[in-house]
Amino acid sequence: MLPENPSLAQRDQNVIWHPYTQMKTAPLPVPIVRGEGALLFDEADKVYLDAVSSWWVNLHGHSHPYIAEKVAEQLRTLEHVIFAGFTHPAAVTFAERLIGILPEGQSRIFYSDNGSTAVEVTLKMAIQYWQNTATPKKKIVAFRDSYHGDTFGAMAVSSRSTFTAPFWSYLFEVDFIDVPVPGRENESINQLETLAQTGEIAAFIYEPLVLGTAGMVMYTPDALNNLLRVCQQHNILLIADEVMTGFGRTGSTFASDFVEVKPDMVCLSKGLTGGTMALGVTSCNEKIYDAFLHDDKSKTFFHGHSYTANPVACAAGLASMDLLLQPETQESINRISQRHATFAASIKQLPKVQQVRQQGTILAIEFEDTATSYFSNLRDTLYNFAMEQGVILRPLGNIIYIIPPYCITNEQLDQVYQTILGMQQLISALK
Ligand SMILES: *Cc1c(COP(=O)(O)O)cnc(C)c1O
Repeated sequence: MLPENPSLAQRDQNVIWHPYTQMKTAPLPVPIVRGEGALLFDEADKVYLDAVSSWWVNLHGHSHPYIAEKVAEQLRTLEHVIFAGFTHPAAVTFAERLIGILPEGQSRIFYSDNGSTAVEVTLKMAIQYWQNTATPKKKIVAFRDSYHGDTFGAMAVSSRSTFTAPFWSYLFEVDFIDVPVPGRENESINQLETLAQTGEIAAFIYEPLVLGTAGMVMYTPDALNNLLRVCQQHNILLIADEVMTGFGRTGSTFASDFVEVKPDMVCLSKGLTGGTMALGVTSCNEKIYDAFLHDDKSKTFFHGHSYTANPVACAAGLASMDLLLQPETQESINRISQRHATFAASIKQLPKVQQVRQQGTILAIEFEDTATSYFSNLRDTLYNFAMEQGVILRPLGNIIYIIPPYCITNEQLDQVYQTILGMQQLISALK
């Protein structure tokens, strides 16, 4: 029952079911009515600094006027058209320009509409690739702590966690190897070599350099390169899931840029449109694409979505890419990376700080905690503390991370760092 003059949050609670939210106990959602730059404003005009880019999607700040203009222009010209048997300028131009910046070898763009779907597409392509080439390779290898999305195929190649427990028995079997974090590189490579010897491995899917949902877990380009070499030697397809790492986050346009061995397929979403529209991309090289060209129609890739290559989403993607490639944005990426490094060095030695990790614009601070899970109370304590400071930071258990839009100012970055220092003091006082 709604009260007489219900607030937006109360009306929300009456009709909406939120993602990743225990609706029985969750506090009322924060009613955001507008955004500008790195800031979000609520109904009462309270300001929030978006230090997590609204679930890692926003690159250039909220309601960016240039993207808004390009999207509006597209909306007035062509809002949507079926993408089987038809095409349109935004999809073609965006594909051309993506191929221009993607890791070497990528030559075909398959559109979908989110990160999980980009992963579904890549898995189906990889599986069918081996069937089309009449090779009996079926198994997928993934990292033990990986996250590739919430649909069934994406869940199957993600770590088995409490989040997916109800569905475990429905997920196809996947071989997991350890992430080659510093000091553990040999274990990973040995596990991969053992699996590769069987000759049954069709593909290896990996989050290059940074495993986001695992808690911004990081490993070196060398460690990844060694794993990818083993895959190459055994003719295992390489799938880089750059849904989170893409578009400058790691300090280069793609995390794969740091790695010598290039992927056969790449999954993109999140920053793909600068956080404006839902869009997914699965790109591949000619080797994959060629395996589907045949007079026999059964070799076709039978997959598509109603909103595939939506023109408005492609226009947002083009506008976001224009902004990303501007020298000022590239300078910002370097500026954020350098400031992160300075802050990381200053916080590393403080009590209760277990580890500090950084890759480009992504900074993660792991606090000591006995109950290291998403469900630990520490997580809520830290989240609420940041919100009180007007900073949006969503801890993953005892891990706090920053993944800011590139327009974040030095003053705003300092505000985030101060909040994190406040957390460190809070934790030190707790125990
Ligand atoms: C977020 C994410 C996905 C899933 O993307 P959605 O658009 O949320 O479905 C897949 N892979 C990685 C690495 C991600 O971070």
